[in-house]
Amino acid sequence: MKIEDAISAVQKELGVYVDGRAGPETWGAIYAHVVKSEIRGHTLAEVIGAVDARSEERIATLLPEAQPIARALVQKAALSGIEIKIISGLRTYDEQNELYAQGRTKPGIKVTNARGGYSNHNFGIAFDVGVFEGKKYLSESVKYKAVGVLGLDMGLEWGGNWKTIVDQPHFQLRPAWAEGMSEKEMLAELRERASNGTPVYA
Ligand SMILES: [Zn+2]
Repeated sequence: MKIEDAISAVQKELGVYVDGRAGPETWGAIYAHVVKSEIRGHTLAEVIGAVDARSEERIATLLPEAQPIARALVQKAALSGIEIKIISGLRTYDEQNELYAQGRTKPGIKVTNARGGYSNHNFGIAFDVGVFEGKKYLSESVKYKAVGVLGLDMGLEWGGNWKTIVDQPHFQLRPAWAEGMSEKEMLAELRERASNGTPVYA
């Protein structure tokens, strides 16, 4: 049996989206099923406990589907001896435009290529992490790469793999409907859904 077939079989058994790839939903279902079988039937959000207060404040701005994944990444990193916090979550289009202006019409260096409506942050499915050592925030550290690997392993997309502005602190959760879409196509659909009130993730 190929690994994709094995994953598909597990997904089918656990009643999650079947695509042959172990993404966040599968990972959560496996966790709920295997690690804590007594809590089967509960949502991933109920299974994964809260993390630090600063992270929780940002996590609260994310879509319900993205919240447990963000928490799980904080916990997974901690298990690897890396302290991270979620330092950015949802941004409004206006906030995104402010950020886009930086290094263009406003002082500072360019930090994003995305104007309002063109970032996954505008839809509650993206978050940025900060690596900490005690109280000290590290804007650069080799640890970001290690966290990137953990995130990829959970089915998140990682900004460290981007070609234009490499963004190691950035993670995003691709909705199942966006499988196989380009980033551009997905963002167009996200804007459309946001403007007409269609749920972004479902
Ligand atoms: Zn980001």
